[in-house]
Amino acid sequence: MSYEPTDIELKHLTRCVELATEALEDGDEPFGSVLVAADGRVLFEDRNRVAGGDQTRHPEFEIARWAATNVAPDERAAATVYTSGEHCPMCSAAHAWVGLGRIVYVASSEQLGSWLAELGVPASPVAALPVNAVAPGVPVDGPVAALADRVHALHRRLHGAA
Ligand SMILES: [Zn+2]
Repeated sequence: MSYEPTDIELKHLTRCVELATEALEDGDEPFGSVLVAADGRVLFEDRNRVAGGDQTRHPEFEIARWAATNVAPDERAAATVYTSGEHCPMCSAAHAWVGLGRIVYVASSEQLGSWLAELGVPASPVAALPVNAVAPGVPVDGPVAALADRVHALHRRLHGAA
């Protein structure tokens, strides 16, 4: 099952993959995310920054905290977070706690888990739960087949397999 994004959604998701690429090239893990307001304005974007040793520096977590400070509650609920990989449980919880709206992701946590298993990467210390297992009220769309190969390739590069 795959989600067919609109042209605008595909543009935002492509930007997420670019940010993920930038993260990888800077020694971080390949994840990128963009926060988009209901009127289409890009409010904030970030990418993974765990290379410094803080494993909580996920872009989706950064977006939630940025939104809590900078975006009014009603605008948060109407905003969409685009992301290269489905939120982890920490980021799903942060997203829901600050009242953000829809999520659109390229690769699901399930896909990422199977890719990492194929690459022989040890299991992460956090369970790979779908967003709705953590945040049942958040509308979620994905995965997006048109970009999944690019995200897969980034994870192969991270683990020295490509
Ligand atoms: Zn996360």
